[in-house]
Amino acid sequence: MTVEASVLSRLAEIRAWQEDLYRDLHAHPELSHQEHETARKVAERLAEFGFDVHAGIGGTGVVGILNNGDGPTVLLRADMDALPVKESTGLDYASTATATDAAGNEVPVAHACGHDTHVASLVGAAELLANATDQWSGTLVALFQPAEETGDGAQGMLESGLAELIPTPDVAFAQHVLPGIAGTVNTLAGPVLSAADSMRITVFGRGGHGSMPQATIDPVVLAAMIVVRLQTVVSREAPPSETAVLTVGSLQAGTKSNIIPDRAVIQLNVRTYSDTTRTTILDAIRRIVTAECDASGSPQPPEFELFDRFPLTDNDAEATQKVTDAFDAFFVDRAGSLPQQTASEDFSDIPTALATPYTYWGIGCTDPGLCRAAVEAGRVSQDVPVNHAPNFAPVLQPTLDTGTEALVVAALAWLAR
Ligand SMILES: [Zn+2]
Ligand SMILES: [Zn+2]
Repeated sequence: MTVEASVLSRLAEIRAWQEDLYRDLHAHPELSHQEHETARKVAERLAEFGFDVHAGIGGTGVVGILNNGDGPTVLLRADMDALPVKESTGLDYASTATATDAAGNEVPVAHACGHDTHVASLVGAAELLANATDQWSGTLVALFQPAEETGDGAQGMLESGLAELIPTPDVAFAQHVLPGIAGTVNTLAGPVLSAADSMRITVFGRGGHGSMPQATIDPVVLAAMIVVRLQTVVSREAPPSETAVLTVGSLQAGTKSNIIPDRAVIQLNVRTYSDTTRTTILDAIRRIVTAECDASGSPQPPEFELFDRFPLTDNDAEATQKVTDAFDAFFVDRAGSLPQQTASEDFSDIPTALATPYTYWGIGCTDPGLCRAAVEAGRVSQDVPVNHAPNFAPVLQPTLDTGTEALVVAALAWLAR
């Protein structure tokens, strides 16, 4: 029997409580930066398993360290937060929770991104590895991160002294449930998730009466020109070989049909897969906005504010190959290749700050029957629920088993005796 098979032979013994933990997390989701109960449950389990536990890192972050002799240090990361979404899955463990968000509004809360699966998988993997210390050697770091959805949870843990709390890992792993056949595991070397930047731009005009435009500088027309001109950034300035997205998601100006306002606010979002293209696009936005303001005779320069920044997730080639080989051997035809995703993640902030190579893989979580029927009918985008949708929830099994197995198999590729 391989070391992986031997460690995972106990999966049947933990499955009952692991599924209970998952259903409990799913029914009791917590918003970004509010993961207090989730963190408490996780810290309790890790302590039971014999990990050296540090809680309250960057707010609600938890790290468990299990030192098991000489060998490499492997970091496994799960994100813990849920979203302000009203769940419509109809599951008997569906969330009915509400919470007060950062702006003070009462909102529904659901694990619409599947982070509960990540948490339950990592708790399970931690137990299996902690109960098989004769099979491996080295140090295991189980890291539970808050606030992935707001893009600042990983950074918060770093600012709270994470680097001094843990031994520097030789490799770091994270995984995400994604639409696709449950039970499958998919890897990709290189840029796998995009970098994301949001920008708030304020442009200025001179307000006045709608009947006397000659006495004003109209920021509505100015903003409209900017929105149109920004459509040329990706099509004319980014390399055609590389995916890039620039979306203006919000454009606000004025209060009334016959008043020309004195300013307009544009909010946009940029997704890129290389630092060069990211810089090219952000520079082009500043250049175009500034020039359009000049063209309109704007009375003062535009203001730019960057927010909600997500780093590029750029999987290390060597680490990814080693994980892919281990997955191919263990999962056989359930292991495949992950298409590049336009979504973003802040996980890479941690390994990047620690100069640790990392890889991030996807776990399919859709009911296989539903998935195959949707593919056959050419209705994947209509029929397969996607992350952040109210009807998104992984099928419990084999998704949870697969998430647990993937973490154990990847960790043992470094740690097995
Ligand atoms: Zn999400
Ligand atoms: Zn997510």
